[in-house]
Amino acid sequence: MIQIKNYINGQYCDPTTHSWLDNYNPSTGEVYSQIAESTSDDIQSAYEAAKAAFPSWSQTPIEERSRILLKIADLIEANLDNLAEAESKDNGKPLSLAKAVDIPRASANFRFFGNAITQFASEAHESVGRNTMNFTLRQPIGVVGCISPWNLPLYLFTWKVAPAIAAGNCVVAKPSEVTPMTAYLLGDILSQAGLPKGVLNIVHGSGPSAGQAIVKHPDIKAISFTGGTKTGEHLARTAAPMFKKLSLELGGKNPNLIFADCDYDKMLAVTVKSSFANQGQICLCGSRIYVEESIAEQFKKDFVEKVSKMQVGNPMDSNTNLGALVSKPHMEKVLSYIDIAQKEGGKLLHGGNRVIVPGFEEGYYVEPTIIAVDTNDCTIQKEEVFGPVVTIATFKTEEEALALANDVRYGLSATLWSKDLDRTMRISKKLEAGIVWVNTWLNRDLRTPFGGVKASGVGREGGFEALRFFTEPKNVCITYNES
Ligand code: NAD
Repeated sequence: MIQIKNYINGQYCDPTTHSWLDNYNPSTGEVYSQIAESTSDDIQSAYEAAKAAFPSWSQTPIEERSRILLKIADLIEANLDNLAEAESKDNGKPLSLAKAVDIPRASANFRFFGNAITQFASEAHESVGRNTMNFTLRQPIGVVGCISPWNLPLYLFTWKVAPAIAAGNCVVAKPSEVTPMTAYLLGDILSQAGLPKGVLNIVHGSGPSAGQAIVKHPDIKAISFTGGTKTGEHLARTAAPMFKKLSLELGGKNPNLIFADCDYDKMLAVTVKSSFANQGQICLCGSRIYVEESIAEQFKKDFVEKVSKMQVGNPMDSNTNLGALVSKPHMEKVLSYIDIAQKEGGKLLHGGNRVIVPGFEEGYYVEPTIIAVDTNDCTIQKEEVFGPVVTIATFKTEEEALALANDVRYGLSATLWSKDLDRTMRISKKLEAGIVWVNTWLNRDLRTPFGGVKASGVGREGGFEALRFFTEPKNVCITYNES
């Protein structure tokens, strides 16, 4: 059985404890590999490798850093098929999605930050009349920690490590223990690309052990984390008294506001995706649909009809729209939310059950599920399910739609469907969200700031925001004589 080892100082190695965790294939429910169960000793080894690499890597010319990042991007692209298969097997997502989105985006992350670093500049402020010039040095922080979740494994792992190393830092990174495979495979690619040893160290293991050891390490000065809000709270409690720089990308409960004056067909097609892409396990999925009353009945009918045609099944099958959920506990959590929603008055319009797929009976499949609700005051409207479950509620006015959308502790993204430009501007300004999509969804330009407000996080990733996070600005103030 394949062993998912740590990649420290440019080499694969066993965890110091020599203990391993089981890694499941969600489509079959079988254990198919073993994951290094790392502890603080492994994090210390990774830290020491990173620390030793830092003086040289931080002084490596930007063109050279960029060249290596672009090479990594090329190699990910060249390994598209292998990586996509590995991602699909490890996560349960349709292979077609891993091929079209996850792996191309992992490559794009390295390409984007490999290019962005060559354009990254800092400010100068001339204090006119005082013979003084200020400029800002943006220096890499040193050794930084990156911790990522299971829903978009290589996509989100690389979204953090690429800007971190582009900016000249050395990294101790931990992918989710639920989906470690593609980060493990990345080690070989890093070696092939000639990334100097110790620049990026990949350590596997559980959150409370390996993850916590990264956050607690006194000399890992910044932590970039994506994951659940509860974990984020815990992380912040550990890191804040140590005055670490923190970027937290957390959960969401995103509204999808549909007005009667929208482009109906486009809205319908995109809403199917924004509800159920990746089995609804994308932090940006629009899990709370609010539709204007005048079109609500029509919408419910058309939406249910489209969703009922979606195929749930073997992720490797090209006809599959929804693969398996990532794990058994997660599937059970999703099913329990469906149950709670009905007990609290929600009306099931479609789905609601586990699916037993012939030949894959032990896999973790759940039907795409649609629940009608008539209040925001219920668990399913307040808590993140992170599965193939959406609710539909109605509104009468723009004000009501906005109030319902903002009536939640989260604030990651929002989607808005209307042809009325004035309305879309008014609402976009008032939505409590880090990202607003108008007449589109998951339409990403990597230069834009990415992140949430309220319980969805602190800080922004993407573009120069990520490079700013991974550098420390230093003001240098120089006076000079005119003569
Ligand atoms: P999670 O919080 O359980 O785990 C995320 C990562 O944190 C994993 O690598 C895990 O091992 C690690 N971890 C867990 N406990 C830790 C601890 N005490 N110290 C340090 N690290 C620890 O999240 P998950 O279940 O893997 O992912 C799903 C969540 O991620 C959802 O809430 C989703 O909304 C969120 N998410 C957010 C974004 C975003 O950009 N805002 C993107 C994707 C996913």
